[in-house]
Amino acid sequence: MELTLNTEQDMIRLGQIIGKKLHGGLFIALFGDLGAGKTTLVKGIAEYFRIDHIQSPTFTIVREYDAHGIRLCHFDAYRLGDSDELYAIGFDDYLTDDSVIIMEWPQNVLDALPNDRLNISLNGSGNEPRYVSIEPIGAKHSEFYGNIIKELSL
Ligand code: ADP
Ligand code: MG
Repeated sequence: MELTLNTEQDMIRLGQIIGKKLHGGLFIALFGDLGAGKTTLVKGIAEYFRIDHIQSPTFTIVREYDAHGIRLCHFDAYRLGDSDELYAIGFDDYLTDDSVIIMEWPQNVLDALPNDRLNISLNGSGNEPRYVSIEPIGAKHSEFYGNIIKELSL
């Protein structure tokens, strides 16, 4: 699915809709260049759970939040050279049924990404509109994707 979002607030709203449909065991890969709006989308997801202190985990690689009993793990793989560096910080321990992983710069660790996942690509910068492409891979995330689509069309 392709969406055009004209404002930062539209991106926050998309995040809130995704947040509403979130459940443990999901993995969202957020593709897009610097300034495309990846962290803004995560802020929107967190806003649904009334979490208002999202910071970019560029230097810490991962930050965790309690989202109504879901462990929300916000990864930023920007500074990782390869997936070995991701495993070195204990990536496997984050892949649990009560966790959701949302990862910026997933292209840096492509071979570590689960095969069942939601890919979201953001394009655009500055004050331009953002072009968003959302694509599920696998059965679990196809169902999640279907729930997001339903919510978007309401
Ligand atoms: P990234 O995490 O991809 O590097 P950020 O979310 O940190 O990007 O920054 C995106 C910047 O672009 C923010 O300063 C935001 O205000 C701005 N912006 C302008 N228009 C939009 C839009 N339509 N969607 C998302 N962000 C936008
Ligand atoms: Mg970011």
